[in-house]
Order: sequence, then structure tokens, then C-alpha cells
Amino acid sequence: MIDNYGREIRYLRLSVTERCNLRCRYCMPEDGVFKKRHEDMLSEDEMIMVVEAASRLGINKLRITGGEPLIKKNIVSICSRASAVKGIDEVCVTTNGTLLPEMASELREAGVNRVNISLDTLSREKYAYMSRRGELDTALRGIEAAIYAGFDKVKINTVLIGGFNDDEISSLAELTVKYPVDLRFIELMPMYDSGDFDEKSYVSSELVLKTLPDLIHQKAADGVAKLYKIPGALGSIGIISPVSNHFCASCDRIRVTADGKVKPCLHSDIEYSLKGYNTDEMEQILKSAILSKPLAHEPLSLNHRSGSGRNMNEIGG
Ligand code: SAM
Ligand code: SF4
Repeated sequence: MIDNYGREIRYLRLSVTERCNLRCRYCMPEDGVFKKRHEDMLSEDEMIMVVEAASRLGINKLRITGGEPLIKKNIVSICSRASAVKGIDEVCVTTNGTLLPEMASELREAGVNRVNISLDTLSREKYAYMSRRGELDTALRGIEAAIYAGFDKVKINTVLIGGFNDDEISSLAELTVKYPVDLRFIELMPMYDSGDFDEKSYVSSELVLKTLPDLIHQKAADGVAKLYKIPGALGSIGIISPVSNHFCASCDRIRVTADGKVKPCLHSDIEYSLKGYNTDEMEQILKSAILSKPLAHEPLSLNHRSGSGRNMNEIGG
């Protein structure tokens, strides 16, 4: 479906839970989430109805996210049913990777085409600090399990944080030499309440190009990422700049939260509830949401935080 500004909306990000086994400092509070009532969250059947309604409007790409989607008991069933929905060509999962050692093959068999794994550092100490409870080695084993499981694509998402991992750009980029993975450096976004990061934490992704002057620019773009490659590497390096150079003009996505709200824009508090409706009604609600998708969001900065009114674990990234 085409929105009011000529953008073709083809991509749904569906969050299946707000909960997580980690507590990344830029994403969610240390004490976790305020637990919502079970009956206020989308059921598995309703999630599949949302995907069906979206596919009727021309959405063909689905990302399953969270919170941490792999802690959800019925995640394999959700993936398998979603990938069987007519019109859905590609199902991707975004995960912190820590449960992939046990689950990668099962997800692949359930029809998941791609996985994105979040990894912000290669230091055990820093990983434990930023995630507040995770272990680097488990996440690395998750990356290896994903490669072994044979997904069409394995990507690594790295949030660039000044004073934390800006000294690791080269070593993280080297993962694309060691493994057949694409790595995306993503600028830190000032969400509703994402920790006590100061101005120094918000670094422009330009720093990647300054640090790695030998990167070869790739003509092909990948969604919102500008693509580069280390000479001879197996995978590409992508740069995603939601803060320094927002990409609203080419935004082709909508988001649905685990509590059943469709968000036409990540950084707006406009939400429409899908909870309790049938598939036809959901289709109409999704249509209204697409037609109310703003042209652009306000520029983001430390003093002008995202207007979404939610933290990232409640949206899904
Ligand atoms: N738990 C999964 C994971 O970590 O990949 C999926 C959900 S997580 C909210 C999705 C993505 O959002 C992750 O790559 C995470 O690093 C990113 N993210 C969370 N908070 C962010 C922020 N404030 N700015 C930029 N990216 C953020
Ligand atoms: Fe959990 Fe992902 Fe947020 Fe980290 S970024 S707290 S792993 S939802």
C-alpha cells in the first residue's frame, strides 16, 4: 500500500514480547518491565491475524522482534505460522542471540529466512556491563549457531556508543572478515528513558568511515543502510544513521507492539489498537495507520528525545 507521501509500505515489524533476558542500558530499565495483563497482550492467533491483514495490504516482509523474541515459549510456532501466511516472502528475527545456540536450527526449520543479532562489544566485561546480565561468549556462540543453521543472511546490529565501543569499530568490523555476516553500525537513539547517556555517547556514524578509511563503498543499498566492505571480506558493513541523517523519506515500515498497538512511526506516539478485532477490521485499522504515517519525525537529540513515549524494548527497534 502507498501512503500519503508516495512511500510504498512493505515491511511490518511485529514485537512479540516486551520482556527480555537482558537489560541493555540504552534499551530498558534495570528492573525490567511493568508486567501488563496477559489479556491486554496480543495472543498468538491475533499476531497471525495481524500478519494476514498486513499481507493483504501488500506487506511482504516481516521482522519478529521484542523485547527478546526467543524467550517467548511459542516463538517457533509464531515463526512457522507467520512464514506460511500467503504473501509473506521473508521472515526475519531480531535477537540478542543468547538463546540461538539451542534454537537456531529450529527457527530455520520453522521458516525464518534471516536473523539479526545484536552485539555491541567484543569485550566480556563491557558486554556484561552494557547488558547488565548477559555473557559475551553465549552471544558469540549464538552467532556461530546461526551461521551453522544456514539462514539466508545473518546480520549483526551494533549500536555505536561514544565512550563505550567507539574504540572497537575496527575489531567489530573484522567480524565480517572472519564470518559470513553483515554488520550494521547503528546510531544510538535517545528514547523515552534510555539510560543516563550523555552528549558524548551520541556519536555520528561518520566515525565508522573515519576509522575505516579503506572501506569500499557498495553501490547496492540495503534498506536504510549505506553499504561498504572491507577488501576481501565475506560480509558487508552497513551504516544506519537515524539521528544524524534520518531516512523518513524512504521509510517503508510500520510496527506493531506486543500489546497490539500499530505505530506508523517509531518516533511518534500515534498508535492504533488492534487488540480484540477480527482480520478484516485489523486490515482497516492498519490502513488508517499507514495513511496517518507522518512525513518525517522531529530531529532527535539528547534534549529532544524520541516522541514515541516508549522505550525500545516496548517497540522492537
Ligand atoms: N532483543 C532483541 C535484540 O536485542 O536484538 C530485539 C529487540 S531490540 C529492542 C532491537 C534492536 O534495537 C537491537 O539491535 C538493539 O540494539 C536496538 N536498540 C535498542 N535500544 C536502542 C536505542 N536507544 N538506540 C538504537 N538502537 C537501539
Ligand atoms: Fe533486551 Fe534487545 Fe533491549 Fe537488549 S536491546 S534489553 S537484548 S530487548
